[in-house]
Amino acid sequence: MATTNHTGTQTAAVVPNPGPNAQCEIRHDIPIPTPDPDQVLVKLTHSGICHSDVHSIYNETPMETDIAGHEGVGIVVKLGSSASQHVKVGDRVGIKWQWSVCGTCAACAVDETACPNQNNSGRNVRGCFAQYQAAPAKDVTLLPPLNEDGNAADGLSSELLAPLLCAGLSMYSSISKANLSPGQWLVLPGAGGGLGHLGVQIAKAKGYKVIAIDSGKAKRKLCVDEFGADAFLDFKTDDIEAEVLKLTDGVGAHAVVVGVGSTAAYELAFKLVRRLGTLVCVGIPRTNFHLPVSPFEMIVRSLRVVGSSCGTRESMSELLELAKEGKVRAKVEVRELDAINDVVKGLANFEIGGRVVLRIPE
Ligand SMILES: [Zn+2]
Ligand SMILES: [Zn+2]
Repeated sequence: MATTNHTGTQTAAVVPNPGPNAQCEIRHDIPIPTPDPDQVLVKLTHSGICHSDVHSIYNETPMETDIAGHEGVGIVVKLGSSASQHVKVGDRVGIKWQWSVCGTCAACAVDETACPNQNNSGRNVRGCFAQYQAAPAKDVTLLPPLNEDGNAADGLSSELLAPLLCAGLSMYSSISKANLSPGQWLVLPGAGGGLGHLGVQIAKAKGYKVIAIDSGKAKRKLCVDEFGADAFLDFKTDDIEAEVLKLTDGVGAHAVVVGVGSTAAYELAFKLVRRLGTLVCVGIPRTNFHLPVSPFEMIVRSLRVVGSSCGTRESMSELLELAKEGKVRAKVEVRELDAINDVVKGLANFEIGGRVVLRIPE
């Protein structure tokens, strides 16, 4: 078990064999990592669980490690010998999908989210479904400190911040890539889901008009009553294409940000966007799915298609500001780490609204 000097072994949810319907095993014999000189050791308290963790655990996207998770929040408990210029022991930090970027390549010079040399938490380095994780000091996200009593200011508790590290950041970045102006129309398929419900709040904070697409009364209430979406369309009962056109003077929305890994959402998206409009891909459908659009259609309608993965550290700071102002708040259900297999199954079946955050045992 973990000791107070943070050495020895720890508890983690391990995936021995990533593959279809793979199960995680809660194990207590995983060595606590020793931070390299440029790294910090983080004792995690919470870890959000993302649809892309399901893709990793089921090996639908390649998983080269045995612990998933990339929305980790915890406290720095140990510093590598050269890590002290970025953070100090006791800081509350977040560990994101982009566990590290090289900072020196051509992509990093423009937008580090496209770094070909990046390492990813839960893909090729051990992820956050564990008590401890080491990460480069320069790449962890400094979070607002906890109060002296160990509690957080309203809206800034660790379980509420965890989903911002991937779901929130991914939506912040992808909505930014749509290049909208206040008052313009944005369609958000999957608006009641883990990414979508944060997207609605981010888009409204920026003054865009939001058409939320999802299904059921609960998600309608969440999107419209709670987060202020301008319209809600139910994909099970509404003619989405006709309704979007009706709402947008017959020409379609300025942008569609697909934050859900559904091929149906991508198929529909091109019918919802106007000429000169933008489609942003951020939700991951099965990897052999191709966008249903021809160069001819792209040319005639002057469409723009952009991919977006995570977000930059600048986007993360801007998103944390929105959280501090109370404009973005994740809808969270907290479960214990040992419920992970249940949650993975629920995500795989698209049964989970908002975000599940796993509490890591102390
Ligand atoms: Zn994620
Ligand atoms: Zn790079």
